[in-house]
Amino acid sequence: MIPMIESKYVWSDGELIAWEDATVHVLSHALHYGSGVFEGIRAYDTTDGTAVFRMREHYERLHRSAAAYGMPMRWTVGELEVATKEVLASNELKSGYVRPIVFYELGAIGLDPRNARVRTMIATWQWGKYLGEDGVINGIRLMTSSWRRFPSASFPNAKATGTYINSILAKREALQAGYDEALMLDVDGRVSEGSGENLFLVADGKVSTPSLDSGCLDGITRDTVMKLLRDQGYEVTEAEIAPEQLCEADELFLTGTAAEVTPVREVDDCRIANGKPGEVTRLTQRLFEETVTGRLLEYRDWLAYV
Ligand code: PMP
Repeated sequence: MIPMIESKYVWSDGELIAWEDATVHVLSHALHYGSGVFEGIRAYDTTDGTAVFRMREHYERLHRSAAAYGMPMRWTVGELEVATKEVLASNELKSGYVRPIVFYELGAIGLDPRNARVRTMIATWQWGKYLGEDGVINGIRLMTSSWRRFPSASFPNAKATGTYINSILAKREALQAGYDEALMLDVDGRVSEGSGENLFLVADGKVSTPSLDSGCLDGITRDTVMKLLRDQGYEVTEAEIAPEQLCEADELFLTGTAAEVTPVREVDDCRIANGKPGEVTRLTQRLFEETVTGRLLEYRDWLAYV
């Protein structure tokens, strides 16, 4: 478990409040029915100061997530961007994780949330490597979950709090079996994604990742990595991937805002290649690191300076 280091302030509907005051009522609708949408964003200590990585795309996705569930948004993308910079600066964080959440609070109980007040909060804190320092260096062990991603039961491309109960089941199963992370298949048995990350596969010098039809999230890190590798001349395809292909792969890695680029060294009882992170994985990690810290000038548009 990675520790979360508390900060001083949380942004709450237009004002900065103390961390310990950022609480909700026990009858909040979202607590009972998972009626919230959220994001996970990272800010990095770059060559020119603190910058938030692909902030616009994250807030656009937050707006799309809310729209999918018919939740009214009080704050525009631009206002949320300003708020994020404000809360990072007030917490004096050079780098950190940003967690915006929009949820139905008091006012309705029962499955129609429309009378509930919608709250928007943004918390930031210092957060280390989601899948561990050792995972980033040596790779992690992935277990194929017995829990499936079920696109037609919700919107797989919306980050809604309620749908994460499915991911929690998968993660718990993998951890209990001694693995680091769960790999989820879709209802047809095709590879979808990790419990909180997208997956990439490298075979014969070509890179592929499950297509969105598999019910995986349209990850912003997934999109970043596809662009970085294509710009290096790699062929990157969004494809249907069968679980049998994983064991045969030369390299596998996971991507996500929290997990960044994390190599996978084993899937179930199968070791990937020689069990060490491969060349493309290492290259991706390096390109990603240089991009988020502002050292690759051509991708500076992805950075929003605080
Ligand atoms: N899949 C799931 C289920 C996730 O929760 C996340 C994290 N948001 C990802 C993939 C990776 O998405 P991103 O790169 O946008 O963080």
